[in-house]
Amino acid sequence: MTTLAEAKALVAADDRKDFEFASRGFVATRADPVIARGDGRPANNLAAYDFLAADAPETANPSLWRQAQILTKHGLFTVAERIWQVRGFDVSTVSFIDAGTGWIVVDPLTTVEVARAALELVGEHVAQKPVLAVIYSHSHVDHYGGVGGVTSAADVAAGKVRVIAPEGFLEHAVSENIIVGPAMLRRARFQFGHTLECCAHGEMTSGLGPRPSAGALSLIAPTDLITRTGQEIAVGDVTMVFQLTPGTEAPAEMNFYLPQFRAVFMAENANLTMHNLLPARGALVRDAKAWADYLTESIRLFADKSDVMFAAHGIPRFGREEIVSFLTSHRNAYKFLHDQTIRLMNSGLTAPEIAETLALPKALAKQWFNRGYYGTMSHNSKAIYQRYLGWYDANPASLNPLPPEPAAKRYVAAMGGPAAVMALARAAVDEGELRWAATLLNHVVFDDAENAPARAELAAVYTKLGFDCEAGTWRNIYLTGAQELLHGIAPGPGAGFSPDVLQATTTAMLLDFAAVRVNPDKAAQRAFSLNIEITDRRETHLITVGSGVLIHEEGVADPAAGATVRLKRPDLVMTLIARMPLAPRVESGDIIIEGDASLYAALIDLLEPPTPNFNIVTP
Ligand SMILES: [Zn+2]
Repeated sequence: MTTLAEAKALVAADDRKDFEFASRGFVATRADPVIARGDGRPANNLAAYDFLAADAPETANPSLWRQAQILTKHGLFTVAERIWQVRGFDVSTVSFIDAGTGWIVVDPLTTVEVARAALELVGEHVAQKPVLAVIYSHSHVDHYGGVGGVTSAADVAAGKVRVIAPEGFLEHAVSENIIVGPAMLRRARFQFGHTLECCAHGEMTSGLGPRPSAGALSLIAPTDLITRTGQEIAVGDVTMVFQLTPGTEAPAEMNFYLPQFRAVFMAENANLTMHNLLPARGALVRDAKAWADYLTESIRLFADKSDVMFAAHGIPRFGREEIVSFLTSHRNAYKFLHDQTIRLMNSGLTAPEIAETLALPKALAKQWFNRGYYGTMSHNSKAIYQRYLGWYDANPASLNPLPPEPAAKRYVAAMGGPAAVMALARAAVDEGELRWAATLLNHVVFDDAENAPARAELAAVYTKLGFDCEAGTWRNIYLTGAQELLHGIAPGPGAGFSPDVLQATTTAMLLDFAAVRVNPDKAAQRAFSLNIEITDRRETHLITVGSGVLIHEEGVADPAAGATVRLKRPDLVMTLIARMPLAPRVESGDIIIEGDASLYAALIDLLEPPTPNFNIVTP
């Protein structure tokens, strides 16, 4: 971890190149900084980060402050002849390529409102043209959720607009957040600081981009899939050459090259920060080796013949030499992270020991874009350990330790009670040992969540830790922890699905989501099976319940099942997933049950709603 003194020295020696790249080609920005939603609430407020115009205060790491200044420059920018970007409207960027008779829109942001505002800005200052194609570089929502703001499902269905995405896009777009959606959403609040005020002592970006916009999420299924590197697609008078990079930053992802403009788009594979191998919100762990290897391929394929590089977050880079050196150095950072973590694993170090030891060589670490603003060397090395060896460090003491609450009670008692532990924590704070102070005070809070002075002191320690962090994500995590200790859990956003995402979710995925909500005691009391016929999709699913589990099989029907339920997909969603009353739908004839009419109600009764606001910083 960087010390504050190091961060200050780095900022003082900054050559300001990134600031120049961030403002190059600026055309204009919105007159009204607020992008409104239909209900009047803001989707985003571009003025929210105006406080960053000042010098870094004591409440912020100067290196993160610098990063936030660059990431929050907002407006329309000329990237190259016939290529524009709108940046600062969302955590991601949206790019517009002039294909002669219309636009190719690359990665239409997170929500419909901000995507529409970006297209309007382009229309106002460059040209009003129809959208001919949309490209989703990968399966994360900040790269497709706003598609409804730049085109419509009807225009896509009519063949007026092509939607181009990497193979596997739709499955991953839908599946990544569904099965552990409730837990991920709760944890994401910490990573992005969703409940923090946007200010010099609060949220100041995630280190990747400004705060994600809030608004309507949309999804239109791709019409054209990229299935191999080297595949070419022409839209209007523009030809794109694609590079598939599955299993890098996202399970389905791709870069592309524009030969006639000597421009390369690097998706989210090359950023203005070390990215996450495992985001703090939680995810399946990513593959650092694949990431580095695909960057090696990108360098081989594109770097030498590119005069401009643009990406799905951050800022473009200009000049062939700059692009070669950036991609090479950035690739080296992931390669070093991967290889050296494994070298240390093979020499017997455990994950926290590796995280404490591992640092990029100076030549890589001094490059701003390799620094840990979003991912960090610390938690990324732990992710690599997890990917190859899992959670267990092979020490028998770690095999079956007490959970946090009983462990805390025994630690606090062993150390002489809460007052004695708090005195130790204060001494640790005085010595600048904030991490140890946090460990001590966390035990006191987990011993007794009602101990208000301990909560306040732990909140103060988290706040100080947060202010010092170079990583935006870590800052948000500590400050959100402090907020919850002092004020309790703010009511979070509901885990509502967007209608488009729900439509694209397969019935099998929905039944997986149902199965992970089963109350095991209820499902152990009674064994039964039923056939589900989805009449509007011509699907049959056999559901078998018993021994505490729900099994589902697609395309299977059992004549001996206790009942057969015939219904349309929306009725399955409303009754089984959203728990709307069943009786009216049966009475209206929309749901027809043959056989034991009680079994479908029994199935619904098995499922528990998730607990979206669970405790994190308290027991
Ligand atoms: Zn993204």
